[in-house]
Order: sequence, then structure tokens, then C-alpha cells
Amino acid sequence: MLSEHYAQVTVVELGYPPPHRDKVTVGVRYASRTFRLREGALGHDRLIITGGTAARPRGGALTAIEDGRHHVSLAGLLGDTRRPTSPSSSALPRHLPFPDIYRAIIDAEPLDDGAAFGYPASIRVRYERLNRFPAGLLVIGDAVCTLNPVYGQGMTVAAIQAMALRRMLAAGAAPDASRYFRRIAKVITVPWDIAVGGDLANPAVAGRRTAETRLASAYLPRLHAAAANDPALARAFVRVSGLIDRPESLLRPDRLARVVTAPRRQPSAATPLSRWPDAWRRSSAGPSAGSARSTSPTHRAR
Ligand SMILES: Cc1cc2nc3c(=O)[nH]c(=O)nc-3n(C[C@H](O)[C@H](O)[C@H](O)COP(=O)(O)OP(=O)(O)OC[C@H]3O[C@@H](n4cnc5c(N)ncnc54)[C@H](O)[C@@H]3O)c2cc1C
Repeated sequence: MLSEHYAQVTVVELGYPPPHRDKVTVGVRYASRTFRLREGALGHDRLIITGGTAARPRGGALTAIEDGRHHVSLAGLLGDTRRPTSPSSSALPRHLPFPDIYRAIIDAEPLDDGAAFGYPASIRVRYERLNRFPAGLLVIGDAVCTLNPVYGQGMTVAAIQAMALRRMLAAGAAPDASRYFRRIAKVITVPWDIAVGGDLANPAVAGRRTAETRLASAYLPRLHAAAANDPALARAFVRVSGLIDRPESLLRPDRLARVVTAPRRQPSAATPLSRWPDAWRRSSAGPSAGSARSTSPTHRAR
């Protein structure tokens, strides 16, 4: 398993042309921690996702996991990624746009010290466009395409690629590199468009905005807003971001109608981080303030 960088260096050192790279710089700061929530803190919900807004380009997810525990991740866009593990107070997120996650964990028991991570850019290496490739070498997973982790897709994409490779190996001979890369390119396109389309909804993120990304940037925040009060829409979105259903399913006429007629939830008063548990603040390294535009509020799934 070579990293995205070393896989390309290896190809070039062997005398082959460098592959083209698509890159979208996101400067994500990411911190996660596990909690045991107070009994009934979430009702029947199992998942809360809070997207960023124009004023506060930070979001988070609270997810039910094994043994009655909950995993909470906070992330901010376009932060300082130079020292991702430094808990500098000036770099902490001031607040999330919606208070649902905060309310769920304010009286929760932290089960670990938490961990923080910096993620600079989504990168897709276009090996499928090369005419020549070294025999006996294939590239897979993050080394072909690394996606902004806030969309939670990377492991699924790597696993689907591994299944595609398994099918090719089952045929007997070593897979032809060109056929292999074309096949996994098809696997990568949807999650890449979801992640990059989501990030380009923020005007501060540099990148080429196609008609599809503009449509996604306009529609998805409204869908998220509607999903805040519509469990079926929330489930539909989670199934698409989890790569179970195709993105077009979100444009089904009945869903489209519910999205355009739903009232929009406004961001609440700030949830100051100073009111988060101390241990969380010590362990989390958040983004520096940045300007952005996005209007996805919290939605909850059951
Ligand atoms: C903060 C964060 C949160 C994420 N959250 C999610 C999520 O919620 N859901 C999701 O689906 N994905 C998530 N991802 C993405 C996911 O972790 C990756 O997409 C996935 O792990 C990629 O799998 P991989 O096998 O390609 O690479 P990796 O999992 O990185 O595995 C590569 C392995 O190769 C080893 N290695 C590297 N170089 C060498 C070498 N020279 N010799 C020997 N071994 C080597 C490494 O140690 C590593 O074990 C997240 C990523 C990050 C950074």
C-alpha cells in the first residue's frame, strides 16, 4: 500500500509519465471523541449531522456505535493545518451553527481523550488516463483517491475497489492495469462528486464549478434543511452519502417537492465552545475562523 504521493513517484521513477491529479484544497481540521450519553439524551435518534453555514463553516456528526457509546466528530473547513494536533486555544472552533450535538453531549461521560487530525486536500489521481503503466503494479484506495473525511466515504470507496479487484483476480490472469483503473474510476466518480460538490458550495474553496456542482451546491443545503424535520429525507441523504443509493435518488419528484416546500431552519444562537466539556477542548484542535457560505443545518436520522 503506497501513499498517493509515493505511488506517483514510483511510476515516474520507473520511466512512465506522471498521472494528472485533480486536487481541491479544503484545509480541514478534524477532532473526534467517544462519549456515553445520558439516558434518553437522543430519544430514538441514532445519528445527528450538523453542516456548516456562511458565518460558521464548521460541522459535526454524532453517531451511535457499539456498546451504547456515541462517537462525536467536529470538523472545520479552511483552517490552519500546519499543526493539526496542537490544542491551541486561538484555533478552537467558537461554536457550531446548530446546538443539537452540544445538547446531546453537554452532560455526557467522555470515554477517551479524543484525537485530532489535519486534512489538507481531496486528491484524485487519474491513472485511468495514462496510456502506459508499469507491469506488476496496481494502486488502490486512498493512493488513487483521497476524499475529505467529513463525508465519511473513504473506507467504503476503498472496499468497493477491493471488491472490483477481487472480481478481476478471480478471472485468473493478473488484471490489465488500464482495464483495472478504468473500472475503479467508475467507482470513484460518485463519491468524488459528492465530496467536491459539497466543498465547492463554499465560495472560499477554489475549484472548477461545473453545472452539476452548481446544482448540488444549490440543492443540497435546501435538502439538508428539509431533512432536519423529515426523517425519510434524512435517511435518503445518508443512504446516498453512504454510497448505497445513487445521488439522482435525491431528485425523485416526491423528495424534490418536500425539499422546495419545507421551511428553512435558521442557525441558532452560538454554542460557545467554552461550554463544552473541558477535556474535549483540551483534546480538540479546531479550525481558525474562515469565511464561507453553506446553509446545511442539523438533520437527524433514526
Ligand atoms: C480523520 C479521518 C476520518 C475519516 N473518517 C472516515 C469515515 O468516517 N468513514 C470512512 O469511510 N472513511 C473515513 N476516512 C477515510 C479512510 O480512513 C480512508 O479512506 C481509508 O482508510 C483508506 O484505506 P487505504 O487502505 O487506502 O489506506 P489506509 O487505511 O491509510 O491504509 C494504508 C496502510 O498502509 C500502511 N503503509 C503506508 N506506507 C507503507 C509502507 N511504505 N510500507 C508498509 N505499509 C505502509 C499504513 O500504515 C496503513 O496501515 C477518514 C480519514 C481521516 C483522515
